[in-house]
Amino acid sequence: MVHFVGAGPGDPELITVKGKRLLEEADVIIYAGSLVNPQLLSYGKAGVEIHNSAEMTLEQVLAVMKRAEEEGKMTVRLHTGDPSVYGAHREQMDALDRMGIPYDVTPGVSSFLAAAASLKKEYTLPGVSQTVILTRKGGRTEVPEKEDLKALAEHQATMIIFLSVGQIEEVAADLAPSYGWDAPAAVVYKASWADEKIVRGTLKDIGAKVRAAGIRKTALIAVGGFLGDDYELSRLYDGTFTHEFRKGMEGGAQTWQK
Ligand code: SAH
Repeated sequence: MVHFVGAGPGDPELITVKGKRLLEEADVIIYAGSLVNPQLLSYGKAGVEIHNSAEMTLEQVLAVMKRAEEEGKMTVRLHTGDPSVYGAHREQMDALDRMGIPYDVTPGVSSFLAAAASLKKEYTLPGVSQTVILTRKGGRTEVPEKEDLKALAEHQATMIIFLSVGQIEEVAADLAPSYGWDAPAAVVYKASWADEKIVRGTLKDIGAKVRAAGIRKTALIAVGGFLGDDYELSRLYDGTFTHEFRKGMEGGAQTWQK
């Protein structure tokens, strides 16, 4: 059996309870060494076989999984953040299907969620934006033309841009015609790691600030009005707005009996 596990954004405490248990039980761990915090490997049992996929081709990763399966071993394939976001785990799952090897997926805390926590912001502010766009600028992997950043920007939604901090000036220039050069922007480098850095600015100056901070990779670009302070209060906690779980103004005190 192969377990794909989301390692979380970096902080070793941000893996799920289930992901940690699978790491503890694994006979073989294949981890994405470029971004997964190596401290997570210390959850592995003594003698666990460890492979760094950053130095391997897809075929080599699959060969390790196949051999482990033949030997009746359990493999954890550890992906950074959540595997469903730029994780390239689909091609591995499809190959395992072809080989008849069973697998499952345990989600993880994606870096875009860790970035919101580090920024202490909410992506979906009432009256500002109720939509989050996760995207990237085309690089070695192309982005379909209809998802061009300039076109996505027209919605002025909360936008989180992966894999693109090396092209931050181009990103800012793509977004500015819709958001305006004064729109707030932030770059979060290594969210949740000990050496995390946050750079705040506007589309006009974020590129220079990021360059000055020496940030070239492992960072997310966040853009949109959610970074500002102008928003409407949530209806969810509005005393005049009743809903299924809270009829009128009673307060929500409860105690939990174990
Ligand atoms: N599956 C991962 C993303 C992998 S793509 C996830 O869910 O987070 C790799 C890109 O993710 C990096 O180029 C960077 O843009 C972003 N990234 C990954 N970890 C990060 C972190 N801790 N802080 C900021 N950005 C991160």
